[in-house]
Amino acid sequence: MALSVALSLALTLALSLAPVWPISLVYLWPVCGIQANCLWLDGFPRTGGCSAVAAFSEVSKGLMFNSMDMNQPLLELRQIVKRYQLDSGDVLALDRVNMQIFPGEMFAITGPSGSGKSTLMNILGCLDNADEGHYILAGEDVSELEGDDLSDIRNRKIGFVFQSFNLLPRLSALENVEMPLLYAGVRHARQLAEEALATVGLADRIHHEPPQLSGGQRQRVAIARAIVTDPAIILADEPTGNLDSRVGRDILNLFHELNRQGRTIVVVTHDASVACHCGREAQIRDGRVTEILEHPPVEFQSLSTAVSTPLAATG
Ligand code: ADP
Ligand code: MG
Repeated sequence: MALSVALSLALTLALSLAPVWPISLVYLWPVCGIQANCLWLDGFPRTGGCSAVAAFSEVSKGLMFNSMDMNQPLLELRQIVKRYQLDSGDVLALDRVNMQIFPGEMFAITGPSGSGKSTLMNILGCLDNADEGHYILAGEDVSELEGDDLSDIRNRKIGFVFQSFNLLPRLSALENVEMPLLYAGVRHARQLAEEALATVGLADRIHHEPPQLSGGQRQRVAIARAIVTDPAIILADEPTGNLDSRVGRDILNLFHELNRQGRTIVVVTHDASVACHCGREAQIRDGRVTEILEHPPVEFQSLSTAVSTPLAATG
């Protein structure tokens, strides 16, 4: 039964996406939802009654935290090496990187252009494998995982936010946010997507397409898409890089709020003022961690009313 429902959903989605299918693959392969098997087999409720979000949270948080010691790193890199092979010779992008990020941290990775930040994020996000070393994610060594096993972990545990938003331009905000759930065959996808958009203060923009939204609003849609599957970890690569400073601050406030709700946030940035918003900062140069800094807490505007009172989006 579950299998046939999942298959029919997949078919419907494939047909509805046919005109944008090549684009959607390029844009969405890192962000498309949890695997159907995790939901169906791990007890996602098949009947209504309670809030879809609450039910979904129970599933994904359970996968992440029930068996976790909060004093153990959620993300741990041990002696990670990554090389790119070019005709002109190998590029050593990461050189024996060690790093520990704990549950509930807001953590920055900084360094100049070309220092290895995105390479590091790709490994943390299970988008790529290291050549050497071990990556322990939520207590599981994922260094040797490949293909579906790696994407399964990624889709269940991690939400991504990118500098260039990576939204599908011809779909509405709602459809963009719904996408990971539809890929995963999750029921109540529309309701979950609406709730995620309300959380980021865009309840009144759900039918707008990305070109009809400002940069800040597009990034909010991208954040809604990252949180709609309720991952415990959010990885953001230069999330304010395309925004002016005031709008960038709003986006950082939003990350603070998501962090306050218990999500672990890793922000990759070359901007020191962004890094100061994070409790700890790992600085990298030429593929090596040169320093780990601690920052005092930053004042931020609480967005705790965002769910019931959408923010006046400023960007
Ligand atoms: P950053 O995000 O800090 O700008 P990257 O992680 O993108 O740095 O790149 C680190 C190093 O690896 C750079 O020298 C870059 O040129 C190289 N690099 C990154 N991706 C590739 C790739 N796909 N092929 C070859 N070299 C790459
Ligand atoms: Mg980069």
